[in-house]
Amino acid sequence: MSDAVCWKCGRLTLAPVAVRYVERASGPGVTLYACPDCAPRLTPGPLPAEMIPPVRG
Ligand SMILES: [Zn+2]
Repeated sequence: MSDAVCWKCGRLTLAPVAVRYVERASGPGVTLYACPDCAPRLTPGPLPAEMIPPVRG
């Protein structure tokens, strides 16, 4: 995984953790990343894998 900017503290981190998925009306959703320091303090939000509706048979 490449580096990313932590959306919480704004620092560049080499080990980003996907913490939230934000849907945008104007385009595709974006995944927000946090650094390992901030990730444990953030309330987990929906991730892309969790946005898939359950399959009902
Ligand atoms: Zn951070």
